Amino acid sequence: MRIFISGPSGVGKSTIISEVLKRNPDIVLSVSYTTRKPRPEEMHGREYYFISPQEFEEMVSKGVFLEWAQVHDHTYGTSLDWVSRYEKEGKHILFDIDVQGVRQARERGFTGSYVFIIPPSIDELAKRLKHRGTENEKSFSLRLKNAREELRCWKMYDYIVVNGVIGQAVKDVQSIIDATRCSRTEMAGRIPWLQEIG
Ligand code: 5GP
Repeated sequence: MRIFISGPSGVGKSTIISEVLKRNPDIVLSVSYTTRKPRPEEMHGREYYFISPQEFEEMVSKGVFLEWAQVHDHTYGTSLDWVSRYEKEGKHILFDIDVQGVRQARERGFTGSYVFIIPPSIDELAKRLKHRGTENEKSFSLRLKNAREELRCWKMYDYIVVNGVIGQAVKDVQSIIDATRCSRTEMAGRIPWLQEIG
């Protein structure tokens, strides 16, 4: 099973994702490659593989990415190898990728549930971004401007979750996961006799 989750910066996506992962130990979070520098609490190979812009370019030219995109000031990409390795082990994967990545994954015919987390309003999103305090003023404005652009892509998704009250948003994503477990694509892969019967 593949669950793709996007949402503008500051919407509370990371909190939702970590809650969902706690409740679903059979789902792994995809570890992407990025040219961004690690934040103090981040570890190479856990949150991301932190690589140089040159290394990233080489990987792009070798075609190793399922999708990749420039997000804010940095480049991020999902490795096809990484995904196949975990899928061969029978793992379910949750992807935290931006709208450009989702567009590419859709174009490549990657099946899964595509979920878009949105704020209750743009004003509320601006407030949350300010509170987060990890961004300087320039980066804050860039993220807010990008958020407006991203929100215009809502039609690419199968599901929309409003993150107003965090507990409810987690429940909504959980319902989507539960439904995806019973989706036709999932069941066809899991129940061989369904294929045989015709
Ligand atoms: P951050 O720098 O805050 O960790 O992530 C910034 C944004 O990059 C997030 O919105 C996240 O969804 C997006 N992102 C992280 N990894 C990938 C990836 O592999 N591909 C794409 N397209 N976006 C990513």
